[in-house]
Amino acid sequence: MSSKKVINFGAGPGKLPEEVMLEVQREFVEYGDSGISVVEMSHRSQEYEAINNSAQRLIRELLDIPDTYSVMFMQGGGTGLFCAVAMNLMSRSGKADYIVTGSWSAKAAKEAAKYGSVNLVLPKTDSYVDVPPQSSWNLDPEASYVYYCDNETVHGLEFPDIPDTKGVPLVADMSSNILTRPFDITKFGVVFAGAQKNIGPSGTVLVIVRRDLLGSPLPVTPLVWDFSVMTKDNSLHNTPPTFGVFVMLRVFEWIKRQGGVQEMAARSAKKSSLIYNAIQQSAGFYLCPVKPRARSRVNIPFRIAAGAELEAKFLSEAKKRNMIQLKGHRLVGGIRASLYNAVTVEEAQTLADFMKEFQKANS
Ligand SMILES: *Cc1c(COP(=O)(O)O)cnc(C)c1O
Repeated sequence: MSSKKVINFGAGPGKLPEEVMLEVQREFVEYGDSGISVVEMSHRSQEYEAINNSAQRLIRELLDIPDTYSVMFMQGGGTGLFCAVAMNLMSRSGKADYIVTGSWSAKAAKEAAKYGSVNLVLPKTDSYVDVPPQSSWNLDPEASYVYYCDNETVHGLEFPDIPDTKGVPLVADMSSNILTRPFDITKFGVVFAGAQKNIGPSGTVLVIVRRDLLGSPLPVTPLVWDFSVMTKDNSLHNTPPTFGVFVMLRVFEWIKRQGGVQEMAARSAKKSSLIYNAIQQSAGFYLCPVKPRARSRVNIPFRIAAGAELEAKFLSEAKKRNMIQLKGHRLVGGIRASLYNAVTVEEAQTLADFMKEFQKANS
């Protein structure tokens, strides 16, 4: 049972496992028998090298990543990677395909356009409610890569399948759904994930790159975002976000103890079904704008049909019951429940029960 008073449904930075937080707290002042904290320790020390290597080994194990891929811990957040991806891969043909299905992939496409020619695979829209079928996509066979966001955190869309790019390297932003379901890494050229949704503190980014894509960055590429440099130096070219990598290691260990990514996927399916069922069974009191096939298991945006006033009441009553950070993103409004790995099935059940009770009292 949790000792915390609140249930944190925040979209990011999001909830981390309490067990890990307590572990990190215990270890914070003195790491092992080093006599100092991990935040006071040289990144060239044996202790830190062990943390760095263990984190890398564990994420390879959890996601079944073969040696043909480089695994790096970088900085600059998900947004930093928007340009890093373009700078490292764009030189192949000078153009790239972007599948824009929400605000995060839209931002990535805008950033990439600074470094090459961006082809929008889907017609432009600002109402993101579906992942259109692949038969309707306008893919360019000469693209350097095809980019998409596997889970749109703001709009609550998740790709039901991995896109088939007919051999063009596929790049995925998995910031908000990494480690919530297994996936076949060999279908990807690059996968990256900002840490603060499912993995650890903000600022650290997990980056996985197929090794044959290394070695041709644009000349303007900063050293800290050069995948080849960071691979060669094992994420230790400059001072890495040492605390972030340390927490990530403890989160990876926690996932392994829980039963791995399969178990995270099983819990994710349960948690999201509880909320979607509450929406479905509300007979129109709650509405989810996203088409069923593209609904995210991780970020669930929904509205109350009666309007913004009742949504405000919902949020304030939820808060009185210690359910916090449920307010929808400012771009879409309404309510959003984020169900990252650290959010338990019981906590999702508590929210689903509250939704039903609130509906009864207010319809
Ligand atoms: C949060 C998020 C980002 C941005 O991360 P920053 O660390 O704030 O730059 C990018 N992509 C997705 C899918 C996200 O959820």
